[in-house]
Amino acid sequence: MLLALNYLITFVFMSGPSRITVPYTTFLAQVNADNINDITAQSNSIQGDFKKPVTYGSANGTLFQTERPVFATDNLETLLQQHNVPISATPPGTGGSPLLNLLLSFGPALLLIGGFLYLSRRMTAGGPGGILGAFGQSRATLYTADSANRITFNDVAGIDEAKQDLAEVVDFLKTPEKYQKLGAQIPHGVLLVGPPGTGKTLLARAVAGESNRPFFSLSASEFVEAIVGVGASRVRDLFAKAKAAAPSIIFIDELDAIGRSRASSATFGANDEREQTLNQILTEMDGFTPNQNVVVLAATNRPEVLDPALLRPGRFDRRVTVSPPDKAGREAILRIHTRNVKVAPNVDLADIAGATAGFVGADLRNIVNEAALIAARKGEEMVTRADFDEAIERSVLGLRRPIVLGADERRLIAYHESGHALMGLLIPGADPVKKLTIVPRGLSLGSTYSQPIDDRYNYPEAYLRGRISLALGGRAAEEVAYGAVTTGAESDLQQVNQVARSMVARFGMSPKIGPINLTQPGDGAASEHFSDETARLLDEEVRRIVEECHREAVRLLTENRDRLDRLAAAVLKKDTLDQDEIYDAAGISRPASTRPVIAPPLPANGSSKRDGDLARDEVGSEIQR
Ligand code: ADP
Ligand code: MG
Ligand code: ZN
Repeated sequence: MLLALNYLITFVFMSGPSRITVPYTTFLAQVNADNINDITAQSNSIQGDFKKPVTYGSANGTLFQTERPVFATDNLETLLQQHNVPISATPPGTGGSPLLNLLLSFGPALLLIGGFLYLSRRMTAGGPGGILGAFGQSRATLYTADSANRITFNDVAGIDEAKQDLAEVVDFLKTPEKYQKLGAQIPHGVLLVGPPGTGKTLLARAVAGESNRPFFSLSASEFVEAIVGVGASRVRDLFAKAKAAAPSIIFIDELDAIGRSRASSATFGANDEREQTLNQILTEMDGFTPNQNVVVLAATNRPEVLDPALLRPGRFDRRVTVSPPDKAGREAILRIHTRNVKVAPNVDLADIAGATAGFVGADLRNIVNEAALIAARKGEEMVTRADFDEAIERSVLGLRRPIVLGADERRLIAYHESGHALMGLLIPGADPVKKLTIVPRGLSLGSTYSQPIDDRYNYPEAYLRGRISLALGGRAAEEVAYGAVTTGAESDLQQVNQVARSMVARFGMSPKIGPINLTQPGDGAASEHFSDETARLLDEEVRRIVEECHREAVRLLTENRDRLDRLAAAVLKKDTLDQDEIYDAAGISRPASTRPVIAPPLPANGSSKRDGDLARDEVGSEIQR
């Protein structure tokens, strides 16, 4: 576009009026005929006008131009003087002033610069100008003390250890002198580590709210832009701003977006940029002098992929683990989020906390909101326990599905689910079955919902085997009652595979492979480093465990065939059975909860996320078909 514009401008404005081109001889003839008004000459080009229009070829007019041959020896000047033709030697006329010419020839370039400026302004949303500088400004959000919705530690619950760790940081930010007097240095980098939704971002904002200091918050992915070098200059800008406002806090959310180990990532493209940004962060963190009171908080849910250089002393050397809340913690979080919700007096938050093992803060907030929405839809005055139950069920199982099943299919599903439930009753130490339903929900046609008595942190081998048997119970029931299997057990089998593989590859529960963890911390998939021989052994061992559990399930259900029939008949009649009804129908007396809970601390890092997954599964011990 600019090229076309350039051409047009030169063409329209700079070519001047059009002239007819005449041969030199014609020109001489016109001089001799006294028909020349005046001429201007530059080197051998001559332009001028005739007194009377002259026709040459198809052209006709008074304005002309011609070219004097270099070999011409005529004395043109004398000739012209004889015929009284005024001669000037200014450059061939364009008619415009020199200033205008200058402007016109620079026009396109000016346009280009203008366009660039406009773009850069827009990208920084009105930041101060400067052609390149504008790109490099950080877009960190600055929260100050008077921000309307200030968050404090009162808004955070259930993660008390993390809160305590950060209380020290808050204290330092409030009274840095107290520490400096003793010569103590505050950690510059604090890394918040924990599964998604546990409140890491919330916690960082609470630190800002508590300490009342400027808080620069930025998500790591915002550092990285299309233009190489921008990320690094944003980092520089951010740190400069924070140092100017010290004591202050920088918060980098989702640090793994740039802090990923430089060695492990072999992807193309934005890599270079990410690396530069990371290097700049490292440099800035090293550049703090002891009395620059800036604390860098960062959050990630994948600490294992972070570059080791980030975790070195002097950088993010403090690690605060934010783990999913336990029962008391969940109750406290529910209390916070129900502060502005009208809750019916019959609602016991402790009870709800018990029914939501494995839920994190974000899930709990969601459930409270969902329950309030359900209550509003029903037109209730207050949110009742039933609303909460529905919200929990919805979050675990998905929405009810309005599909109508034929009698045969319903009967099959009833047997399948009864199989799961009965296994839950018969296997010692299994999580108690809370609910049995053949109402279709989400992706499942029926479900068995079991819930651990307490939060579990560690799983004995027998328990895991029980989990496998329980998951296989549905299929086993089909085999026992119908002598055939259906497709309904697909998701059960996935779960079975996952647990069995973990037992062999992660927990060292296979005598053949021994106490070896075959998984590698790293970027996830395709990072299993072992020989083909081991891979074969792993598959064999998984198969052996699953087959043993399957045999056990079939045996138990065959022995308890009458109970299975009774349970299936009961659920067919009522669609949904609660815990007591299940025990009644099966003719088993409900045991007092006696199962011991083994809860040593989790291994410090790496596998903690996976263990969280497992704990999470447990709520979803609902078995789908
Ligand atoms: P993360 O950054 O760890 O993924 P967030 O801090 O963004 O999680 O949490 C999302 C929301 O969930 C928060 O805004 C808050 O409302 C709620 N939440 C999470 N954890 C807690 C907690 N421990 N106490 C109170 N609310 C929480
Ligand atoms: Mg977050
Ligand atoms: Zn099933």
